[in-house]
Amino acid sequence: MSSPTLETEEHQALRAAVSALGNRYGREYFANVVREGKHTDELWAEAGKLGYLGVNLPEEYGGGGGGIAELAIVLEELGAAGSPLLMLVVSPAICGTVIARFGTEAQKRQWLPGLADGTLKMAFGITEPDAGSNSHRITTTARRDGDDWLLTGRKVFISGVDIADATLIVGRTEDAKTGNLKPCLFIVPRDTPGFSRSQISMELFAPEKQFELVLDDVRLPADALVGDEDAGLLQLFAGLNPERIMTAAFAIGMGRHALARALDYARTRQVWKGGPIGVHQALAHPLAQAHIEIELARLMTQKAAALYDIGDDTGAGEAANMAKYAAAEAAVKAVDQAVHTLGGNGLTTEYGLAQMIQAARVARIAPVSREMILNYVSHQTLGLPKSY
Ligand SMILES: Cc1cc2nc3c(=O)[nH]c(=O)nc-3n(C[C@H](O)[C@H](O)[C@H](O)COP(=O)(O)OP(=O)(O)OC[C@H]3O[C@@H](n4cnc5c(N)ncnc54)[C@H](O)[C@@H]3O)c2cc1C
Repeated sequence: MSSPTLETEEHQALRAAVSALGNRYGREYFANVVREGKHTDELWAEAGKLGYLGVNLPEEYGGGGGGIAELAIVLEELGAAGSPLLMLVVSPAICGTVIARFGTEAQKRQWLPGLADGTLKMAFGITEPDAGSNSHRITTTARRDGDDWLLTGRKVFISGVDIADATLIVGRTEDAKTGNLKPCLFIVPRDTPGFSRSQISMELFAPEKQFELVLDDVRLPADALVGDEDAGLLQLFAGLNPERIMTAAFAIGMGRHALARALDYARTRQVWKGGPIGVHQALAHPLAQAHIEIELARLMTQKAAALYDIGDDTGAGEAANMAKYAAAEAAVKAVDQAVHTLGGNGLTTEYGLAQMIQAARVARIAPVSREMILNYVSHQTLGLPKSY
């Protein structure tokens, strides 16, 4: 199914190796973990040992010295095998990148080796109940108290806070001169007093849970702040582009998995004399379209990752948005067509495809919705005026 042309031999070898690992676990492992209310700990640990979780992090801190291109390959291949690791999107991709690029030496030493080998995980919290897509409206605020920070606010839909050792929280500090609020990033360890979480009941078939967070005067030491207080926005975007690229990889993996399952079925299920159901173009063409759209989305994802990895944050921003958009749409369509290809079996627990319907839609909503990407492209790329 995969056609990893345009990739270096190293990338192709990484793809093959991760695919082999993913297929040793596969969808059955993932489904059992979810049904038992557990986490994909065994796969996470093995992928960590093999160096896959930290391929993008600097070698001197235990990483593989690669970039987001390599980490996206890891996530895509695990997803294509049916066992995606959602925390890759936040832990090494956003948090690892931000700390590697902007953290102090002490923060790098404390977090990066663990994020790289998977023994530490970090969640990422930007979304707020009253801000949603409008992240300029976030109100989680940090104020100084002596050398410490006191952080107060609320976050919603934050993934994996229960299994993360800490959460990288996007807050704001007040500009002493203008009184304006500037974004800034804080590492909040899971058990810090005043930092509480409640699980949101979601209709998703996934081991990672989403949480609403309350930060009630959470006292943090000065070194909880990542990077420069005055360069928060730049630092934030350094993490958000990898997040979009990784969400695209997540969606592409899922789309490939669904499509492969549908193809197996279309090649073998026979209800008429003329051959298996796949001979009918009414089934074959939508599957071919799904394949084309997944391939196109991967191309844009590779472009975004390549731009990001050479340090072109602006170029990567546009490409990452487009890749996320294309991949989410491709995954939603592929999953829908896969379910349909199996007829009634598409909705059975045994075949396990219907459980991907909601999961595929996540990529359309998070981390930035389809409409907000269309807004971005309308304004930034096409120069059209803003409606808001
Ligand atoms: C499974 C899951 C996991 C998540 N994990 C995390 C996480 O780990 N960390 C984190 O910080 N967040 C996380 N999120 C939150 C996610 O990023 C937000 O749900 C997303 O940004 C959309 O925000 P919202 O839900 O408030 O929707 P809203 O902003 O309320 O938008 C609702 C609808 O209105 C549309 N809309 C809004 N504004 C406009 C506009 N100007 N023009 C056109 N349409 C518009 C949107 O496209 C959307 O369709 C997660 C969400 C989900 C579902």
